[in-house]
Amino acid sequence: MKKYVGWDEVTTGTLLHSFEGKFGDAVTTDPDDRPYAWMNSINVSVADWRILKPVYNRDICIDCQNCWIFCPDTSIISRDKKMIGVDYDHCKGCGVCVEVCPTNPKSLLMFSDFKDNEEALSEWPEKKKRGAK
Ligand code: SF4
Ligand code: SF4
Repeated sequence: MKKYVGWDEVTTGTLLHSFEGKFGDAVTTDPDDRPYAWMNSINVSVADWRILKPVYNRDICIDCQNCWIFCPDTSIISRDKKMIGVDYDHCKGCGVCVEVCPTNPKSLLMFSDFKDNEEALSEWPEKKKRGAK
């Protein structure tokens, strides 16, 4: 029987399993098919306090995967080397993905967390000319 404890009841040395049962092949198993444990943070939103969010523009993206590699929170969703979008349940709004995006204009930009994504896309900047600041 599962025993539920509060965060302040967890003792030093407690082991929190990421996956159910024996599972050793996270690298070769599609992320959507992995047997995540019930306490895995993938199952809950941990980004409620975000102020800014990255908005993704598919029309400009070149699928270089820089954002996916550098995101410190595994919040860029990519499948078969194709960028799909941002996991807003886990993204903390740090802006690293925007910094490392190489396109002109960038394919990810930070906006207020309250702004509608379609509205943000309609405000996307034009391509900067070489030498322009
Ligand atoms: S803002 Fe930070 S946490 Fe969110 S997707 Fe970009 S790099 Fe990841
Ligand atoms: S870094 Fe920019 S261009 Fe590269 S995959 Fe991410 S959004 Fe697309």
